[in-house]
Amino acid sequence: MTQQLVFDAPRRGLPPRHFADLDAAGRVAAVAELGLPAYRARQLAHQYYGRLIADPHQMTDLPAAVRELVATAMFPDLLTAVRDIACDGGQTRKTLWRAGDGTTFESVLMRYPQRNTVCISSQAGCGMACPFCATGQGGLTRNLSTAEILEQVRAAAAALRDDFGDRLSNVVFMGMGEPLANYARVVAAVRRITEPSGFGISARAVTVSTVGLAPAIRRLADERLAVTLALSLHAPDDELRHTLVPVNTRWDVGEALEAVRYYADVTGRRVSIEYALIRDVNDQPWRADLLGERLHRALGRLAHVNLIPLNPTPGSVWDASPKSVQQEFVRRVRSKGISCTVRDTRGREISAACGQLAAEG
Ligand code: SAH
Repeated sequence: MTQQLVFDAPRRGLPPRHFADLDAAGRVAAVAELGLPAYRARQLAHQYYGRLIADPHQMTDLPAAVRELVATAMFPDLLTAVRDIACDGGQTRKTLWRAGDGTTFESVLMRYPQRNTVCISSQAGCGMACPFCATGQGGLTRNLSTAEILEQVRAAAAALRDDFGDRLSNVVFMGMGEPLANYARVVAAVRRITEPSGFGISARAVTVSTVGLAPAIRRLADERLAVTLALSLHAPDDELRHTLVPVNTRWDVGEALEAVRYYADVTGRRVSIEYALIRDVNDQPWRADLLGERLHRALGRLAHVNLIPLNPTPGSVWDASPKSVQQEFVRRVRSKGISCTVRDTRGREISAACGQLAAEG
């Protein structure tokens, strides 16, 4: 029971079943229910994941007579784009989505010279209540279904193909929500994103970012998906982390680091340590030293620190650290033998970071 609560928030108000909720066996069973042969399941998967089509009426290899049946039974309309905002000269594009029940959430598409990344939501809202995060202020509305998660990916891939003649290369679960609190649906989505019969994106190009739900991190390691794991640490000491990432009172810094060490050992993957630098809150030189030391002990070369200049949320008293403080922080972490870089901050002018669009409504 406790496990259930930890891994999966209640299945409240999830949308109707969609093709993208199903694995290969489920797809075969679903087409059989409609009286269709098994090979139709493969055709539909090719249309959806390969050609990025979610409307059976446009699936020309499907007999016209069954398109309506397939549409009604397997492809309900899940998401409507209610706002689309571009910035960075069109290289960053944020979409506000509305689900059938009125729930809103967002995704952000970012184009870089060497990659195209979509940042997606796993929940509408978030129950983790981190005080510096816009999403954390509103609480959790509900989990997203697997198909609602995948529709964000499909839309991004289709936009890249249609508008830029390009391909989606990376997916990061750094939009709204705590992915490991919607465990089963997020893992199913990761499988569809990485499978050759799904979107076929390399597992190492998929990042799951978590506040540090230790049992769920271990369970994810045991799935052998080998996606990149990011731990939102934000403080090296429990006293401060209790306030910045309240779930720390349940799984503290030591336990979170032990869990990500297990993840790194099982998967052979380096773990990203996310650290939002907040002026005069967590940016002191001694905290940089402590961060470097703790990571050196727990992970060594298996850690990479991503410093994120805080993106101030409306009404918050907190601000990003000055450049000089940031540089000193990097230097001190590196001096402990830990690799450390400052993350590029995209989309500030369109409040693309961290739940701000949905918060503006
Ligand atoms: N719940 C997950 C994933 C969503 S948040 C997690 O916490 O990891 C994605 C990342 O953005 C996290 O590292 C989060 O701490 C960070 N973040 C949230 N609000 C921010 C802000 N205002 N400025 C900078 N980073 C922020």
